Amino acid sequence: MDKETLQKYEKAGSIASQALKRGLSMIKPGASTKKILDETEAYIKSQGAGIAFPAQIAVNEVAAHYCPAEDDTILKEGDTVKLDVGVHIDGYIADTAKTIRLGGQDDLVKASQDALREALKKISPGAMLGEIGKTIQETITSYGFAPIRNLSGHALGRYEVHAKPTIPNIDTGDKTELKENQVVAIEPFASKGAGIVYESSNPTLFTLTAEKPVRSPLTRQVLQEIKKYKGLPFTSRWLYNEHGIGKTRFALRELKSHGMLQEHPPLLDKARGVVSQAEHSVIIKDKPIIYTKGDND
Ligand code: MN
Ligand code: MN
Repeated sequence: MDKETLQKYEKAGSIASQALKRGLSMIKPGASTKKILDETEAYIKSQGAGIAFPAQIAVNEVAAHYCPAEDDTILKEGDTVKLDVGVHIDGYIADTAKTIRLGGQDDLVKASQDALREALKKISPGAMLGEIGKTIQETITSYGFAPIRNLSGHALGRYEVHAKPTIPNIDTGDKTELKENQVVAIEPFASKGAGIVYESSNPTLFTLTAEKPVRSPLTRQVLQEIKKYKGLPFTSRWLYNEHGIGKTRFALRELKSHGMLQEHPPLLDKARGVVSQAEHSVIIKDKPIIYTKGDND
């Protein structure tokens, strides 16, 4: 990896770490989740960085892919709140997340944090993916919780959030080895429920997957906006601000019917168990560079 690329990753990582810290400081009973996301994203832009994916705030049994759009979710005492932030510099992405439980951290929060810490210790060129998953699984089950088996870490490509390979959260026996200079996000999820998530309804998170001609001028206007995201995920909340709810819904429906849109609906634990998550991004080296670490743990 050349020096310039490394510097871009490190800059993205340091901004992501700061953005996460700021967002987490707003997680309080009575807080608007929409406002937390708006302010977290505004901070990223104020630093001259790009948003790699909409900031996400998944509460309790929602594990991931939640961004309020039409409604707002107001946080309350006892909630387990995951904040997940993505930043890029010139397409080089930093992806980091942390969980806060309102009313005092509990073992569920510790379990995913601890699993992340243990997994990061195993990271090196030549480390096998299944072994990393095994470490995560063993750490989380030692707390009496379940790792979420159908959510995983992933490599980070340029302008590509979920690149291959995936980094499992369980022992898959995968003998694929990590390579020097690969960039990966490790993200254990610990669940008090099934440890399996399902796709619920009403997605607010999307990716444009193809470009085709569209007839409607309204849809064309919205599509112009979506193209600015360069194939990275976006959320309807951004489009509502620019184009209003009715027009955005119409456009998203048309894009979907043309097969141009991938939807990412909220992912919920199958048994409605509460879920925690911890995530860092790492450049694989003999001494790995955890570039989202900042002064967070
Ligand atoms: Mn993430
Ligand atoms: Mn990730």
